[in-house]
Order: sequence, then C-alpha cells, then structure tokens
Amino acid sequence: MDMQTSFLDRLFESGLLIDTGVDGLYGRSGQFEDVISAFERLIDKFGGADGAEAIRFPPGMNRAFFEKSGYMKSFPQLAGTVHSFCGNELDHMSLLKCMEVGEDWTKDQEATDIVLTPAACYPLYPTVAKRGALPESGALFDLQSYCFRHEPSKDPARQQLFRMREYVCMGTDKHVTDFRQNWMDRGVEMMRAVGLEVTIDVANDPFFGRAGKMLANNQRDQNLKFELLIQITSSANPTACMSFNYHQDAFGAKWGLNFEDGSVAHTACVGFGLERIALALFHHHGLDTKEWPESVRKALWG
Ligand code: ATP
Ligand code: ZN
Ligand code: MG
Repeated sequence: MDMQTSFLDRLFESGLLIDTGVDGLYGRSGQFEDVISAFERLIDKFGGADGAEAIRFPPGMNRAFFEKSGYMKSFPQLAGTVHSFCGNELDHMSLLKCMEVGEDWTKDQEATDIVLTPAACYPLYPTVAKRGALPESGALFDLQSYCFRHEPSKDPARQQLFRMREYVCMGTDKHVTDFRQNWMDRGVEMMRAVGLEVTIDVANDPFFGRAGKMLANNQRDQNLKFELLIQITSSANPTACMSFNYHQDAFGAKWGLNFEDGSVAHTACVGFGLERIALALFHHHGLDTKEWPESVRKALWG
C-alpha cells in the first residue's frame, strides 16, 4: 500500500473524511470543518484591512459565461456540467425502464443553464464587467466557493469537489502584480504561523492536449503562475496549497474590464485550497487538533 492510500485510510478511520464510494468526493467531520473555519479567519486577519468586497456565488455558474471563458478550450477534461431530465411522461417511462435493466439512463439528460464552477473567480469577471468602468484605483474581491474538477484520485489532496478561497485584484499591471507578490509573502508568513514548511515555485495549469503543452510552457516562461507547496501525501511531489496567478490583460480583454479611459484592466488572483491546507495541518500535526502544538492552536483559535 502506498503512502497516499494509507493517509486517506487514516483520514477515513479517524472520521475526518467520510467515504462516499467516489474517489475525491468526501464528507467532512466537524473537526475538519473547524480547521477550515479557523484558517479562513486567519486569512481574514491577513487580508481584512485591504477592503476587499466579499461576494459568495453558489458552486454553479451561468453556462453562457462558462462557454465564453474558454474553459473547454483549455481544460475540457476537468469540466462538470449539470444535466437534467426534460422529457414527457413517455420519456419518463423509458428512463425508469432503463434504470431497471441497468442500462445508461443518463444519455437523454439535457444540458441545463448551469455548469459547476471550476475556480472561485470564474463567475466574478462577467459580474464586474456588467457594473461598468473600473475606478482608477482598481478593484479587489474576496471570494469562496466549492469548485468541481473531474480529477478522481486516491490522493486525499486531489478532490473533485473542494473549496477555494480567493482574492481577485483588477487594476494596472503594477497594481495587480504587487497584489500577487504581497500575497506570496503573506502566504509564507501564514503557513509559518501554523507550523507548516513551504516552498514557492513557478507552475503551470494542466492545459489539455498537445497544443496545451505550448500554453503551459508559455505560462511558465512568463512566470504567470506560482504555487505555494507543502508536503502532504508525497515528499517527492509537494502539494500546491495556494496559487498566485497573473492573467495579464487576458481576462480584462475577454470580459471587457475597462477603466474610464477605455484601457483594459489587468487581473490577478490568489487562491487558497482550503481542504489541502486542512490536510497539510492534519498530516503534520496529527489527526487530533487537541494534540496540535500550542503555537499552532493559538494561531488558529486565539
Ligand atoms: P494542481 O496543480 O495540484 O492540480 P492547480 O494548479 O490545478 O493544482 P489551481 O487551479 O491554481 O490549482 O487552484 C487553486 C487552488 O485550489 C490550488 O492551489 C489548490 O490548493 C486548490 N486545488 C486545486 N485543485 C484541487 C483539487 N483537485 N482538490 C483540492 N484542492 C485543489
Ligand atoms: Zn482565480
Ligand atoms: Mg489541478
């Protein structure tokens, strides 16, 4: 049995994660949730004075916005769509028949107007664009959402439905890259406060296919994505627990995020993987929060 499986098994045995029979889809215990809530309060403490506007979207987004985002060009393998039964009574009868005999009953389901949110910031850009021109001073948002990615895995740190807390900054090139650097420094400081050793490294997104290789190389060469890595399930491959993304003016141009003078805004986003951070804490400090080092408990619960 490899390390990954055994950490997952220990999480199940302790009740911190609850097996649903699907890899990457877990229930979470009260103690697990307490850690996430406490860490989110720590995030608030670090970011609270910045004056970000808090917005919470549900874990599904407008399919039209999803289509416009280009997600299916870059990450078709990860997307999750919401389909529903839209037939008549006759169709219903044949659906039930299908289920009864164990045939595929889902093939006649129809796409709804909702797609599962792939990253917390996706619903934000069209929302802000609709408000009109951005002020000179830019804009800052505080988001949190369950996100879906179809990447089933036995690695408890790779889930299919997980929460991402994000700050998103819109402004000039310098404004948003300063924002990103500031959060890289804060990220290191926060993790140190809770007793976690980190490294920061340049990274790329898992763009699909052969053309995707080029996009990934380009993203790396231009230092557009950094990750804060913590050892969780593998010491050879530490896990990305935060990511720091600079989109240049790509999202600004796509969504029409403009300043009063018509120039296109740059954007950057910083994401915390909340389950991953909780798992890193349980991995390093043990499966019972009461046994965690006093300094860590103090940083999280005061
Ligand atoms: P990875 O390289 O491990 O797949 P990522 O680069 O896809 O991560 P992002 O797209 O930058 O991650 O998402 C922002 C944050 O969300 C990540 O830093 C990570 O902490 C978290 N995250 C991403 N995918 C998952 C997942 N499948 N399960 C749990 N957390 C995740
Ligand atoms: Zn984002
Ligand atoms: Mg990923």
